[in-house]
Amino acid sequence: MATKSKSSGKSSKYVYLFGGGKADGNGTQKPLLGGKGANLAEMTRIGLPVPPGFTITTEVCTYYYDNRKSYPKALEAQVKNGVTFLENQLGKKFNSLDKPLLVSVRSGARDSMPGMMDTILNLGLNDKTVLALARYSNNERFAWDCYRRFVQMYGDVVMGVQKRAGEDHEPFEIVIEKLKHERHHADIEDTKLSAQDLQELVARFKKLIVERTGKEFPQDPWKQLWGAVGAVFGSWMNDRAIVYRRKYNIPAEWGTAVNVQAMVYGNTGENSGSGVAFTRDPATGEKVFYGEFLINAQGEDVVAGVRTPEPVAQLNKHMPAAFKELEGIRQTLEKHFKDVQDFEFTIEDGKVFMLQTRNGKRTGIAAVRFAIEMEKEKLIDWKTAITRVPAEQLDQVLAPIFDRNAVKAAKVIAKGLPAGPGAASGKLYLNADRVVEAAARGEKVLLVRNETSPEDLRGMIAAEGILTAKGGVSSHAALVARQMGKVCVCGAAALQIDYAAKTVTVGGATYKEGDALSINGTAGEVYAGLIDTAASEVVQVLVEKSLDGKESRTYQNFQKLMDWCSKVTRLQVRTNADNPEQTANAVAFGATGIGLCRTEHMFFEGNRIDAMREMILANNVEERKAALAKILPYQREDFVGMFTELKGLPATIRFLDPPLHEFLPNDEASQNDLAKKMGVPVQRIQQRVKELHEFNPMLGFRGCRLGIVHSEISEMQSRAVFEAAAIVQKKGIKVNPEIMIPLVGFKKELDLQVAVVHRVAAEVQKEKNVKLKYLVGTMIEVPRGALTANEIAETAQFFSFGTNDLTQTTLGMSRDDSGSFLPHYQEQEIVKRNPFEAIDQTGVGQLMQIAIEKGRKTRPDIKLGICGEHGGEPSSVEFCHRLGLTYVSCSPFRVPVARLAAAQAVLKEVKAGKGR
Ligand code: ADP
Ligand code: MG
Ligand code: MG
Repeated sequence: MATKSKSSGKSSKYVYLFGGGKADGNGTQKPLLGGKGANLAEMTRIGLPVPPGFTITTEVCTYYYDNRKSYPKALEAQVKNGVTFLENQLGKKFNSLDKPLLVSVRSGARDSMPGMMDTILNLGLNDKTVLALARYSNNERFAWDCYRRFVQMYGDVVMGVQKRAGEDHEPFEIVIEKLKHERHHADIEDTKLSAQDLQELVARFKKLIVERTGKEFPQDPWKQLWGAVGAVFGSWMNDRAIVYRRKYNIPAEWGTAVNVQAMVYGNTGENSGSGVAFTRDPATGEKVFYGEFLINAQGEDVVAGVRTPEPVAQLNKHMPAAFKELEGIRQTLEKHFKDVQDFEFTIEDGKVFMLQTRNGKRTGIAAVRFAIEMEKEKLIDWKTAITRVPAEQLDQVLAPIFDRNAVKAAKVIAKGLPAGPGAASGKLYLNADRVVEAAARGEKVLLVRNETSPEDLRGMIAAEGILTAKGGVSSHAALVARQMGKVCVCGAAALQIDYAAKTVTVGGATYKEGDALSINGTAGEVYAGLIDTAASEVVQVLVEKSLDGKESRTYQNFQKLMDWCSKVTRLQVRTNADNPEQTANAVAFGATGIGLCRTEHMFFEGNRIDAMREMILANNVEERKAALAKILPYQREDFVGMFTELKGLPATIRFLDPPLHEFLPNDEASQNDLAKKMGVPVQRIQQRVKELHEFNPMLGFRGCRLGIVHSEISEMQSRAVFEAAAIVQKKGIKVNPEIMIPLVGFKKELDLQVAVVHRVAAEVQKEKNVKLKYLVGTMIEVPRGALTANEIAETAQFFSFGTNDLTQTTLGMSRDDSGSFLPHYQEQEIVKRNPFEAIDQTGVGQLMQIAIEKGRKTRPDIKLGICGEHGGEPSSVEFCHRLGLTYVSCSPFRVPVARLAAAQAVLKEVKAGKGR
């Protein structure tokens, strides 16, 4: 964060100019100039047609919030100088009654935050300059159109004339609608409003502003400019920007820059327009020019979803020369930025201007395809290609699609644009709050609206999918869905949404809130009712084996990416699995073993739970042993299955961990059932449940404490492992069990358990006349274990960090009880991320580091892994790589994500010059 002293120094440069082929800044300066500002400078430098402008740095934003919303002294003169620069570049003048200079004032943070912050266009207009603009452009309608847009935006963004709680429409839109009906008796398009209509609108807008705020709309362009600059800085702390930053982990201290740029006009007539485009299709990844535009419009209209834009290919018909120029720009952009660009342009009287470019947000599927194809085209090398797919997004490649047969049977009730691929089914709700409420009740929901706006963000996050009736592929809904990886269909024009009645009518049928719909965001189709979903192509090839890999491009791209990852990765990825099927899936996704087999999961299925309960209810060791003998064959069978699938890959098997009461029924009916089944009085069961009750089960009679008090449990588990190993090994398949003792805090705990394991191993080897290879180690999941790791390593052949419990015990925070306060902690940024999702690197991570150092002192080659839920979360994977762990472990479907994150961790290190 910029310090006060640094940013108040007199010599500081707060304003960076760009224009006329030169720029003070460049594309590498995103932290200082924001993404938009840095790339405007970069595009200017490489000779693209960018209207001149200047960028006020993010340091000013930081200063603004550090100093009670005031500016550094030197700023005013630098902004004045910036405006003079524009005047000289264009031969226009601010507030001129001859040729008035108009500017846009635009926000721009380091990372783009689409639609989160505010933009003001046509600034510099007032009751006098509007006449000058009309004269000078010889286009009265255009001048008044600019003015009414400006008053509207300024009134909204700077003066706060917005819809109030409970209102469904923007106040300015209500004024427009009323005028249209008064004067034209219909909902005509904005472009059909005459100069006189627009002039009248300006008057009514100004009146509305006075009514709502008690203040006049300012006529002085300088006052307008400073008001707009303040509003942009202010928007950095508005609610929706804060929600957005939290979702994407953008720190508040980054701040936003402000870009002031000379206006170019897309609204001068039929030979002008505005659009947004991608150099390739960001939904499918296909290499086609993708995007849309509106004739006779300023840029805001394209994203606002008021008029439905045309696909960019159509531009060739309207303005062939401009289209050709844009095609050239598309090539230049990719060659220069070496990544897919998402750019905004305006055409003024046939001439193209570039207003923004950035790396395009993309779906997971597109990200993979871009990476693979750009490598093929030699735009990037394979290592760069690995870094191009956000690890988190790879999930989307594995996301479900609709079952093909189920879709054939279903009826399409509407078609829209495919804006976010995938399949989603759920109950429909028409407003974000109700979506959030329903999702909190556990319902699967779809957010259905005419169009979405940034206020709907919470609802969009909570929904399975998003369906809109209006707007194109660059509407707000589409943009946000693509980024969040949400399924989305937009612009399904046949839907008639009645917010008041809470209904959607289409094709003669009416659906109420709570009724089910399904949407296919890959095809842009909407169906009535719930449709079964099917696995993604990758899963069909690898897991279900129902599809030939040669027939799926998605699979081939995925596999190539994974192969590249294997070439650089040091950190291995294992899986958390407790049955043969999960094991097989994980191995298909490239897991190199099991990092955590929770043996207790094996006790819940079928009649096993009965034997388990018998064991718990036993009165003495003999009874307990008898019950355990019934469990043994089940457990052995599962291990045989897993060892067979693993084909010699290691399997870390954790001994019984949870408190015993988790296995007993709590309600009376099931207690009665169990009593009958076992032929014991129900009182005995109730008595035992009472005895086992604990005040703090998380810190109670669990983990190795169970095996220490009842060593026969560990004995049985050891026997199951080794007998299974003997069986599989005799079939000629290698077996590598790694037995793991949980919740160890004292070396002696481990010693006692390890003695049992070795004794049983020796017995089984003798009985079966085999030689078995195995390791015994421990979990490091309580602080004492980490702090005394040097002692524990005398016995332990490996450590596996149980970061779930280690987080609970280090923070003194029960994961299952944290829901009531943790969200507040995140809101107030006490913790940046939920520590149960991403490792708390400074706290928990430090204990890991201590344990590693101490463990290695005793046993230099000690094997190290992690088996908490964190093992599949990219930032934690990277952290584990830096710690030098041997492996991470995560659920089977997260394995590809972790593999990608592990490869990216290496490349990041190399880039930072720390490669080993
Ligand atoms: P966002 O960050 O929300 O995309 P922008 O600052 O990019 O906001 O502004 C939105 C749109 O306003 C742009 O896409 C462009 O069409 C229009 N715009 C911004 N500046 C100018 C300008 N100088 N001339 C013409 N149109 C502009
Ligand atoms: Mg923009
Ligand atoms: Mg644990």
